[in-house]
Amino acid sequence: MGIAHKIETFMEKSSWIRKMFEEGARMKAEFGAENVFDLSLGNPNLPPPAEFQTSLIEQAEIDSEGIHGYMPNAGYPDVRARIAETASIDQETNLTENEIIMTCGAAGALNIILKTILNPGEKVIVARPYFVEYNFYLDNHGGELVTIPSKDNFRLDFDELEKSIDNQTRAFLINSPNNPSGVIYSREELLKISEILKEKSLEFGKTIYLVSDEPYRKLVFNNASVPGVLGVYSESIVAASYSKDLSLAGERIGYVAINPGSKSRENLFNGMTLCNRILGFVNAPGLMQRVVGSIQGASVDIASYERKKDILCNGLKEIGYDFVEPEGAFYLFPKAPISDDVEFVKILQKERVLAVPGSGFGCPGHFRLSFCVSDDVIKGSIAGFKKAFEACR
Ligand code: PLP
Repeated sequence: MGIAHKIETFMEKSSWIRKMFEEGARMKAEFGAENVFDLSLGNPNLPPPAEFQTSLIEQAEIDSEGIHGYMPNAGYPDVRARIAETASIDQETNLTENEIIMTCGAAGALNIILKTILNPGEKVIVARPYFVEYNFYLDNHGGELVTIPSKDNFRLDFDELEKSIDNQTRAFLINSPNNPSGVIYSREELLKISEILKEKSLEFGKTIYLVSDEPYRKLVFNNASVPGVLGVYSESIVAASYSKDLSLAGERIGYVAINPGSKSRENLFNGMTLCNRILGFVNAPGLMQRVVGSIQGASVDIASYERKKDILCNGLKEIGYDFVEPEGAFYLFPKAPISDDVEFVKILQKERVLAVPGSGFGCPGHFRLSFCVSDDVIKGSIAGFKKAFEACR
């Protein structure tokens, strides 16, 4: 009561994460933190790299006039120019500061992108499983999220993509490496997407954008690489973030990169810059802009995440769980040994292991585990996974 009905409904819909969080706190108080194995949250546990601390101290000592004042809503031009250099390599294209907008993380980036490109009622397509917040971001800007199934191994199903596009489609949204599946879309897959979006843009006489949500770009395993969408499809936009690869999720810093070859490059840049302002972000945090601009190339110790992935995958494989080994990000998305994923998560909870049901990602029958926790939590959870698996036989 006292708040909008829609928000009440949203609170109910997004309650999984909250429930797990509350349940985790209750269980830790009851059993002791060391006896609860919380694999439910995607909050990076590794410290930021040493370069971050050094740069933060250096930047904090600068006291030139206006250093903490307003700036262009797109962010500091010199920081954007530096980021353009590294993003050009990642994206296999030639970016300048005029295609980079500093944002409050990938979430801020996605919100300014969607506000800028969507007319009321237009649709954005996403493949399941997907990051649940997309529903809310679409609602923020009067759009509709259309979800399509992926193949069993979480690769894209291009027939489903083709079928789902109509004259109301504004964008296809991908997330690679994916939360929760860990899949990285290959260059061939990006080329196929590009072919379909070009053909459908022609058929419906409107631009259909490819929006790529890339907060996990640097978190890849077995020397995998993430091909850049900007080098593949001209009407593409990237939402990037330092939340995960620099462990700065609380500092709210990321950026948008607009394809320099887009027909609407200038309008996109000006539109998103305005949206950064009017959505109330105004601009991304100034101090963090200067810090990330000065430590381009730095990242957390990715080998640690790879080790954690291996501990979890080996442990679960031995028990008999069925899953696709992640190529990147820090999540595992196994099949639940019973069809009811919510029930299975409750069984795990009895063993003091916290996970999130796949239903929360549009993919019932699975559950998500975050391995951005200490090695001890992962190792300690394996006995619980075994008991829960056996309880389902
Ligand atoms: N997109 C995906 C797929 C995510 O998993 C997250 C955060 O977990 C975000 C976007 C938001 O990231 P940020 O903290 O950079 O806003």
